[in-house]
Amino acid sequence: MAHDSFPQATRGYAGPGAVLRRLAAGPGRDQRITHMEHLPPRVARHAPWPGGIHPAVVAAVRTRGVERLWEHQARAAAAALEGRSVVVATGTASGKSLAYLLPVLSCLLDGAQAPNGRGATALYLAPTKALAADQRRSVADLAEDLKPGVRPAVYDGDTPVEEREWVRQHANYVLTNPDMLHRTVLPGHARWSSFLRALRYVVVDECHVYRGVFGSHVAQVLRRLRRVCARYGADPVFLLASATSAEPGVSASRLTGLEVMEVTEDGSPRGEVVFALWEPPLTELSGEHGAPVRRTAAAESAELLADLVRSRVRSVAFARSRRAAEVIAMVAQERLADVDPALPGRIAAYRGGYLPEERRALERALHSGRLLGLASTSALELGVDVSGLDAVLLAGYPGTRASLWQQAGRAGRAGQGALAVLVARDDPLDTYLVHHPEALFQQPVESTVLDPDNPYVLAPHLCAAAAEIPLTDGDTQIFGPSAAELLPQLERRGLLRRRDLTVQARPPAGEGDDEPSAVWYWTRRERAADLTDIRGAGGRPVQVVEEGTGRLLGTVDASAAHTAVHEGAVHLHRGRTYLVSTLDLADSVALVKEADPPYTTMARDTTSVSVLDTETEVPWGQARLCFGSVEVTNQVVSFLRRRVITGEVLGETRLDLPPRTLRTRAVWWTVTPGQLEEGGIHPEELPGAAHAAEHASIGMLPLFATCDRWDIGGVSVPLHPDTGLPTVFVYDGHPGGAGFAERAFGTAQAWLTATREAIASCECDFGCPSCIQSPKCGNGNEPLDKQGAVRLLDLLLSCAGDPGAVPAQRAGTGPVETQDVGA
Ligand SMILES: [Zn+2]
Ligand SMILES: [Zn+2]
Repeated sequence: MAHDSFPQATRGYAGPGAVLRRLAAGPGRDQRITHMEHLPPRVARHAPWPGGIHPAVVAAVRTRGVERLWEHQARAAAAALEGRSVVVATGTASGKSLAYLLPVLSCLLDGAQAPNGRGATALYLAPTKALAADQRRSVADLAEDLKPGVRPAVYDGDTPVEEREWVRQHANYVLTNPDMLHRTVLPGHARWSSFLRALRYVVVDECHVYRGVFGSHVAQVLRRLRRVCARYGADPVFLLASATSAEPGVSASRLTGLEVMEVTEDGSPRGEVVFALWEPPLTELSGEHGAPVRRTAAAESAELLADLVRSRVRSVAFARSRRAAEVIAMVAQERLADVDPALPGRIAAYRGGYLPEERRALERALHSGRLLGLASTSALELGVDVSGLDAVLLAGYPGTRASLWQQAGRAGRAGQGALAVLVARDDPLDTYLVHHPEALFQQPVESTVLDPDNPYVLAPHLCAAAAEIPLTDGDTQIFGPSAAELLPQLERRGLLRRRDLTVQARPPAGEGDDEPSAVWYWTRRERAADLTDIRGAGGRPVQVVEEGTGRLLGTVDASAAHTAVHEGAVHLHRGRTYLVSTLDLADSVALVKEADPPYTTMARDTTSVSVLDTETEVPWGQARLCFGSVEVTNQVVSFLRRRVITGEVLGETRLDLPPRTLRTRAVWWTVTPGQLEEGGIHPEELPGAAHAAEHASIGMLPLFATCDRWDIGGVSVPLHPDTGLPTVFVYDGHPGGAGFAERAFGTAQAWLTATREAIASCECDFGCPSCIQSPKCGNGNEPLDKQGAVRLLDLLLSCAGDPGAVPAQRAGTGPVETQDVGA
């Protein structure tokens, strides 16, 4: 019994190696595995309970089977008890919650004996409502033994109005999200005064999610929270939990504005993990311009998920998009229906945009084992407790190594082995990765990129802060140096009103030498917090409503509405297919009708870029690499109908949607006509070469900046009016920029060298989705020139990183390694 069977195992689960062998057994399938990585088991390292944890908390935790702490839990808890802000960045299922709950619950219990009755309070922030609800369940379980000292409650958009007052006045562990903090708690801080006055700890769970523009917004929300707390005399300690990331302490400091200690040594045990890289086969079909087409990652993953479920291996397939999650569940169900009519009901899709009660029901079904397979977006990646999984499929690289490990880490229970399979999508990055496993397994995870000083992010938060408590010049300490520059601008724009303080009107000195000399007020009638949407969705989400019944199916971000729910678009929801009959932009409503078209739709758009300001320019020989501000004008002009599995194009329909402009930051590069002539690139080849280089470089950027290819855009122009030269732009797809283009500029040589490498090593002849074709090309992937792109990048890179050198290499040879520095 002891070593050859596992009492908890799903029937038939024989370990990750055996499961993989079974998956690979089908005809032609073994060739689809391009790499197998064995991650050895890790043994547990324990540590004694730190002093200062309340005995009742120790007892409650012990009752639930935790006799001893792992080292990282004890270290983090000890730091928190000493009043130090700390971030725990260890693997999935390493008990990070316990690391922060020990000090928090101890503090709440100690505080409960305080004479004023209210005692200490703590705030828990999750990036999603689902995660907060999940956390409440586990805290409520512990709190059963700690009554009445610990009183947890969720406070989010779903909390009934009649319960909210109770939460504010009586709960001492409030679970919410940054959106509620931004829109409700901070603007109404007076009603929260007793809670905020007693606030001792702020838990920021899954803090690696706060990256890019969203992360920068949350960083400012946390600064506003700290400022309001200071007003009530509270100075809470921040406890952060993160997936493994590079330099978590640095990121956590940027996020909170405080010094944060990091705990990264994982003391929890782990079973063996087998990680396979899987490349779907080429199909008989040819795609755009005759390019070979690989089977989609969704179709391949659906087949693997069906096989796993048939073997009763509990599995989740992570998809990159809501649509892909729906497609995987649907196709897997269809396959299983032929085998056993009972099986399709044991697979479902899970994604954001579902109504909360639908999501809860799916989580419960997965917990209980009623569901064996789930196709999910990253909504499930976030800490929702789905322990008990044996295998994880990743339908496409999730964009970062951090996310890859986070998703893979969902599999494997209680020291048992787990299987993870990355199924490559037909794009340059995924193809590069399944053939360069070292880029996944030998590289550290990324650091989290966020830029709280981004003026587009900071400005609305300064207004919101002024509405909460009028700003003084001393507040620039908390909001950073950019705040001082922005305040006069906000005043000129009529958003803030400034009043100079006479010496008599100043508050009494004694708080140091920075006496305020002016105060800024928010005096407008609208709510300052409504100036910005911290999710960067750019406006009211569009409601998707079923025509006839008026039933609300879900929502789509405003920024995605033109491409996702335009007239005629196919919209998937819970395995049902709908067609959009009207998109009403004024009312933010898309009306849909259930239908069964044999196709999906894909929007096409046109984009132009103008340079507003070149901030940095680096010469690479005659070529130039630049970074600065640009204005991007984009218009969705038509959509294509494509067959569901094959992607075959069935037709195109024009659309009449207004153009949208975006001010953002970009990296761009230029080459000169002289260089092109020397490199033998003819004028007629140039558009295709530049366009292909642009596509591939966008596809590769997620490897260098913590972004998604959908977070960035690009434009290539044979002769750009602002530069007067052939120019390729890559820009951040968010107002004001998100730090991605800046990161691209900083690593341009490595980034563009890998781009050149990815194109040159692709096995196709004239370009395919694995190298230069882009799934989001607004021009239908035309024109594209694969060989031209390689030569163009060689030209560009021949003097990269060495502004003084004379070009020693000519087109067609290797990139930069053999540079003649002495010339
Ligand atoms: Zn190719
Ligand atoms: Zn394109």
